[in-house]
Amino acid sequence: MIGIGWAGPTLLAAGTEAQQKRYLPRLLSGEDVWCQLFSEPDAGSDLAGLGTSAVRDGDEWIVNGQKIWTSLGHFSRYGILIARTDRDVPKHKGITYFVCPMDSEGIEIRPIVEMTGGHTFNEVFFTDVRIPHDNVVGEVNDGWRLAKVTLTNERVSLSGGGALWGNGPEARDLLEAVRSAGGVSDPLTRQRLAQIHIESEILRLIRLRTVSAAVGGGTGPRGIGAQGPRRRTRTEPDGSRQGPRRRGRHAHRCGTARRRSWHLALRLPVLPGTHHRRWHRRRAAQHPR
Ligand SMILES: Cc1cc2nc3c(=O)[nH]c(=O)nc-3n(C[C@H](O)[C@H](O)[C@H](O)COP(=O)(O)OP(=O)(O)OC[C@H]3O[C@@H](n4cnc5c(N)ncnc54)[C@H](O)[C@@H]3O)c2cc1C
Repeated sequence: MIGIGWAGPTLLAAGTEAQQKRYLPRLLSGEDVWCQLFSEPDAGSDLAGLGTSAVRDGDEWIVNGQKIWTSLGHFSRYGILIARTDRDVPKHKGITYFVCPMDSEGIEIRPIVEMTGGHTFNEVFFTDVRIPHDNVVGEVNDGWRLAKVTLTNERVSLSGGGALWGNGPEARDLLEAVRSAGGVSDPLTRQRLAQIHIESEILRLIRLRTVSAAVGGGTGPRGIGAQGPRRRTRTEPDGSRQGPRRRGRHAHRCGTARRRSWHLALRLPVLPGTHHRRWHRRRAAQHPR
């Protein structure tokens, strides 16, 4: 997942042709598992404050430091690594993005065993690890921009239709379950179901935009996922919160999602004798077809 969802799109956006030819086929076929060497003990949310250093030495870089929470690091052939290459500039400007072979001398992988006994995460220690200059992705000191490409793709990869990290039952499974159980009468539950459908439709559209951006040669997803929907959330006159109102050429898509959700809410079976029935009658009287 990290290879296809995170590393692949970044290599497509900024890798050299040689890097793309070398890494992408085996990444796509699943022969090479990849990991993400971003987080550090003192640089989690504040990722740009990372301290792992890479110092140029001829055609190589010498890496020292520590990463943490490295999912599947113990299975991986390569890692996408961000390291500090210039300490004399603002923190976002002195980071470089590398492809790191995980079998390099000087890499020590220590398991983090979860309370369930499972082992997915690792700490990864770098002691004088030599990485060829050819493994730099993009420009030296431009790694923060590429890390954002990775993280934006990560966000979308993890935002599938499923309830858990894109896996598991989807919104439509829930709605089918509700329908086959005879529907619900509680207006708040009906509203929440419609909202779940709206959000799942929006995620589906974002994923379609991601694919079309990638096919069109873009660097990654744009729009809601990348821009942050909360900043643009509005409060309607009736007090309800609304997501971003779409303008421009994508406007019709979200409009369609909302309209469909509305129809879906109306299509949910209504149990007899509820105020919904009265509401439907009133609405039909107000808006005769
Ligand atoms: C399942 C899973 C898999 C992961 N896999 C990887 C991986 O493969 N590779 C990798 O590099 N990383 C991985 N991570 C790490 C992850 O991407 C984040 O870097 C990490 O979880 C956040 O850092 P932290 O745990 O140190 O939390 P912290 O940064 O310490 O944050 C702890 C809490 O404090 C809050 N907080 C932090 N700063 C502020 C602030 N200034 N103001 C208010 N609140 C604040 C945060 O929102 C959070 O709730 C994984 C994480 C998870 C959960």
